[in-house]
Amino acid sequence: MTMAEDAGVVVASRERTEKRRTRFWTDRQANVLVAALLFVALPLLTEHAMPKLLEQHHYFNLDVGVAMAVAAISLNLLLGYTGQISLGHAGLLAAGAFASGIMTSRWHASMVFGLLFAMVVGAAVAFVLGLPALRLSGLYLGIVTVIFGLAMQSSILRSSLLSGGSAGVPMFRRVWGSTMTTDNAVFLVVSLLLLLGVWLVDVNVVNTRLGRAFRTIRENEAVAAAFGIPVTRYKLLAFTISGAMAGLAGAMYGHTIGFVNNEKPFDSTMSLMLVIIVMVAGAGRRLAVVFAALLFWLFPSFIEGLHQWSYVLGAFLLMATVRTHPDGIADMLHHMRRPPRADADAADGEEELPALPQLPAPVRALESVVSLTDTPLLDVRGMSVRFGGLTAVDDVSLSVPAGSVVGLIGPNGAGKSTLFNAISGLVRTESGQISLRGKEIQDLRCDQRASLGIARSFQHVGLARDLSVRENFLLAQHQLAPYSDIEALLMLPRAARAEAEFRERADQAIAALGFEEMAHMPVRNLSGGQQRIVEIACLLVTAPELVLLDEPSAGMAPAAAENLAARLRDLRDALGRTVLLIEHNVPLVLDTCDYVYVLDAGRLIAEGAPAEIAANRSVIDAYFGAAV
Ligand code: ADP
Ligand code: MG
Repeated sequence: MTMAEDAGVVVASRERTEKRRTRFWTDRQANVLVAALLFVALPLLTEHAMPKLLEQHHYFNLDVGVAMAVAAISLNLLLGYTGQISLGHAGLLAAGAFASGIMTSRWHASMVFGLLFAMVVGAAVAFVLGLPALRLSGLYLGIVTVIFGLAMQSSILRSSLLSGGSAGVPMFRRVWGSTMTTDNAVFLVVSLLLLLGVWLVDVNVVNTRLGRAFRTIRENEAVAAAFGIPVTRYKLLAFTISGAMAGLAGAMYGHTIGFVNNEKPFDSTMSLMLVIIVMVAGAGRRLAVVFAALLFWLFPSFIEGLHQWSYVLGAFLLMATVRTHPDGIADMLHHMRRPPRADADAADGEEELPALPQLPAPVRALESVVSLTDTPLLDVRGMSVRFGGLTAVDDVSLSVPAGSVVGLIGPNGAGKSTLFNAISGLVRTESGQISLRGKEIQDLRCDQRASLGIARSFQHVGLARDLSVRENFLLAQHQLAPYSDIEALLMLPRAARAEAEFRERADQAIAALGFEEMAHMPVRNLSGGQQRIVEIACLLVTAPELVLLDEPSAGMAPAAAENLAARLRDLRDALGRTVLLIEHNVPLVLDTCDYVYVLDAGRLIAEGAPAEIAANRSVIDAYFGAAV
């Protein structure tokens, strides 16, 4: 692209961004305003204009239902988005309720401060609860969270410091001083507005890098780390945000019923009920989860006699949906409306593959490349990786000069992918140094190496396959996000601007691929070859300095592989990028690479220019010896 064209594209895209941004805000504001007005007006109208329609105890039930809807959003964030199980969520609700109860009854503060304090305490407790999640997952994390819930119930909340033995804490709806509000309809207004607030925060989570990080962690932590996501930090963040919401929900519940103790109402059955709600309705689906929470709590209260059966009903629904639709009822309804395309992985074959996109102008400055003289961009010295008794990489040294394409070939099981994992930080090296621009990086985490400009593809496509194509392009820009978590949660201008820019860049890349039709499809519905194209295009979106490609042409038609070779040369010649390439397609390697290393059984057996390698006796033996 020439400079003039470049500028034209930039101007046009900026105009488009402006347009979308203004519409985005007005639509959103209008919707929120209408919702807020309805929330304020409806309960008060029914209470005062039609006083006989609903009794106070109906409002009471609604208040409880709304509190549980907030609790369900909280668990959905943790379990649905991030995939972290919590079987003791009621313990977090209890923490919030006690916090607000103590604030309003002992310290005579307003309920406003009580609710804020509940969020802070809920977040703090959840942060501590999240620490085991950094090492445990699945069943073990489930057990830890069950124990947390039980410990809250039978020990912590019974301590005389918090509740005066098991006497509990009264929860006043103190507005100010000695003014209380006892009207359940008024409290419903407050509750609905709080639900709206939590809902909006949850929307913001999903629409920013927070939600993308959470959902990628749920699916594949290695892929998340390779995209530069600090997995530990985001897991704790998910727990913390979820805890704040749970604390708020607990306080809302407590202020509805007016009194809490260690037994009531935050017991282990509530924790289980919340899990059932999220799983049955559909993990990760906000509307369904809120709906289910309201139904679960309201239905039995309005129909006499159903209450004692609600757990049986819940258990039955859980078994029925998990068996037939593991992703919940919302997913079932979604698929009834729009049947999914057959998983296209099976039908790979000789499909037409698009060209890779024109590479975007680099987002990162190139000054480090320019300043380079002799130091290779990547330098590996004496590196070994062991898995138990197996030495997968054995004392390997190699170097990749800036602005070159270097090939790495060798038979299956030679240790090529392991070498990549070691360079990108996904496996621990036994010995040796890895330097990037002369700086040793072997002690950095994977996501830290990614943020230094190392991007990598995976042998088995490294995308978040549950996310759409467009979301993957947004995910790929994770490290470029200039906003803080708070700015993201509240969608403050800087976050909104950055996200609009990311969307713009994602749409450009998708348009360049000609993948517009697939933009909103989950990546797993694409064919293997298409996934590969999307993966490579995603890597290039951030214009990384070093690109590690693990068998990129696997599953591609020959024409597409040729196209890939051309793009790799572009990457080097037009943009000065550096590529380390694992390939089985030997013609492609000989065609593109400036220098080639050959690995066999973990050791380097040859290196040199492509022509030398092609004629090397031991290389031929390694390949054909293995084949015979
Ligand atoms: P290549 O990519 O060259 O085909 P790999 O790097 O995938 O080879 O594998 C090299 C060797 O290391 C193989 O014998 C493989 O079984 C072993 N290996 C790879 N990853 C692991 C792991 N996580 N745990 C144990 N062994 C592994
Ligand atoms: Mg491999």
